[in-house]
Amino acid sequence: MGIPGFPLVERGVQRIMKEPRTIDLGDRAATLISGGINLMDGGPMMGILPRPLWSQWYPPDPENRILLETNCLLIESEWGKFLIESGCGNKLTEKERRFYGGSNPDWVGHSLEAIGHTPSSINRVILTHLHTDHAGGIVCMDTNGIDSPTFCQATVLVCSTELDEARLGIGITPNAYDDRNWKALENNGDLIPAAPGADLGMGFSYYPTPGHTNGHQSVLITGAKGKILFTGDVLPLFRLAVPYYNMAFDVAPVINAQSKRRLLEQACREEWILVLSHEPDVPICRCVEKPGKSFPFVLQPVD
Ligand SMILES: [Zn+2]
Repeated sequence: MGIPGFPLVERGVQRIMKEPRTIDLGDRAATLISGGINLMDGGPMMGILPRPLWSQWYPPDPENRILLETNCLLIESEWGKFLIESGCGNKLTEKERRFYGGSNPDWVGHSLEAIGHTPSSINRVILTHLHTDHAGGIVCMDTNGIDSPTFCQATVLVCSTELDEARLGIGITPNAYDDRNWKALENNGDLIPAAPGADLGMGFSYYPTPGHTNGHQSVLITGAKGKILFTGDVLPLFRLAVPYYNMAFDVAPVINAQSKRRLLEQACREEWILVLSHEPDVPICRCVEKPGKSFPFVLQPVD
């Protein structure tokens, strides 16, 4: 795993190798797993924030790249095994790996196997959106270069608005979407569009958070002992928990800020646990009120 000699990648690999963290919701258990580490240019990740500020939080390498995770969540219950998100997968080209770091063996299939599960044991995958760093893992490439569904027994749920816009390629960059990530599933009839905000059954629902993409959905998991919101890219990093701290990749930054404000207010009021999509160090947290600030909510790590 990882690329020897790249200190940030080595640090990311060490983090991945740590004991996986599990949250007990009574009737289900949610385990944080890695979809692979990512190195991204820190500038666009931090949007309007100046480098002297963000570089204290996420120290860049000499090429200005910062260490990111592609966090995924495995939920086990009497209804089966569910996976939220799938990371970049194993189809990145060498050129893409030069830009984004990581390496092909370092992907969600191996993370599942490392904790005693197989991709074929997953019953359902739920995606926040279809960008490659979230949906790339749902279709994998075999040793002959053939694409096939990674989770061969699973249906994959995605927001219908997101799927429509992904087909049209609506995004800030021309390569925001890659139809290789869903074609093999679509051909098998295993890609299921769901309405924004839909109840997905068995304690899962979409929580609309448009802005990063127009169809972007966070995923709300309701257990007997509490709720987890998997944020997706409306709130990818611990330090971006301020409404107007957007990424340059967001198609509608003002809408994203509104989505984030609503999410943080409700997460605080209803005491949700938040799982952040790309945070390498503090991926699991809560939102608490801090009166006196112009935006009176802050994140706190959950141990
Ligand atoms: Zn992302």
